[in-house]
Amino acid sequence: LRVSPRRVLADMTPYTAGKPIWEVQREYGLDRVVKLASNENPLGPSPKALEAIQSLLPDLHRYPDERAFGLLRALSERLRLPEECLIVTNGGDELITLLSEAYLEPGDEVVVPSPTFSEYAFGARLMNATPVPVPLREGYRFSTDDLLAAVTERTKLVYLCTPNNPTGTYLPGPEMRRLLDSLPRRVLVVIDSAYAHFATAPDYDDGMAYVREGRPVVVLQTFSKIYGLAGIRVGYGAAPAEIVRSLLQVKEPFNVNALAQAAAAAALADDAHLEASRRVNEEGRKQLYDGLTALGIPYIESMSNFILAEPGERAAGMFEALMAKGVILRSGKGWNLPRHVRISVGTREENKLLLSELAAFM
Ligand code: PMP
Repeated sequence: LRVSPRRVLADMTPYTAGKPIWEVQREYGLDRVVKLASNENPLGPSPKALEAIQSLLPDLHRYPDERAFGLLRALSERLRLPEECLIVTNGGDELITLLSEAYLEPGDEVVVPSPTFSEYAFGARLMNATPVPVPLREGYRFSTDDLLAAVTERTKLVYLCTPNNPTGTYLPGPEMRRLLDSLPRRVLVVIDSAYAHFATAPDYDDGMAYVREGRPVVVLQTFSKIYGLAGIRVGYGAAPAEIVRSLLQVKEPFNVNALAQAAAAAALADDAHLEASRRVNEEGRKQLYDGLTALGIPYIESMSNFILAEPGERAAGMFEALMAKGVILRSGKGWNLPRHVRISVGTREENKLLLSELAAFM
């Protein structure tokens, strides 16, 4: 038995998203490994999330709430959206799968800017639909005209990742409005604002207002990034109620475990941790900009918690050399960007270590 070649996204090494810390420790015989590869929160989860997990442990013989009502209620208040417009998923990744399962037929087209988060194309192929890549312009800027030009009769979904992974660029609010106003209503626009909380530009738009307006959009967000809960797998979608109902029709009942639901609800209530995480990211981003500039490594300004740097010819060597020194970055190769590496913003100390290893390599 073979996997249908159309569905295979990439050559499947055991670690499709890069090596975890313990694997690098084992392989290189290192004690100290710093991971700046997966856009995680370097401060870790909110202590309130950890307390919530602790207090739920005696109840682990119970199945979780199918609809995650406790978390749903908290999200509803926070986002000023009715509960029927929200769905909680096993990470944002599951929402992408649910969208594919609910809406895609073989031969349908899914418009995806390029480069972007790889799960959108993966989700399309899962249902034998066709991802239609739309290259970003100079400086990895989005072009609304290019996206519109890619839409055909067969287009079902348009994905917009803003801030975009891996470039850190974003689609300005007025351009997002123009895009939504110009698309036929039968096309569903998925606005992936997983990194929204890090964006600082005044014209940044996370897309939530369009859900409130009842437009055909789904906004994806997650507890994996600023909320520091990537390991427990919880994300959510916001969309008009009719769309949420379709997604619930294809969802498995116990998709989000009980600890994840409790941790996420507690994390959502911890504004102090959110603010501290934002501050550490902004300071770290500046520290990395300054360090990269001093080393003569070009980079793209980022609205997120990672930076796409362009060391050029030396990118592959840099990635390997830093790994051997215990600093894990994300290679650009997965996005067909062999001259780039993506660097997640760490704590002050982690960034400092990265910059000193970079200086030694250069
Ligand atoms: N969207 C984007 C743009 C991402 O970068 C990620 C995580 N890499 C996700 C969604 C999904 O994250 P998770 O499944 O951990 O919620």
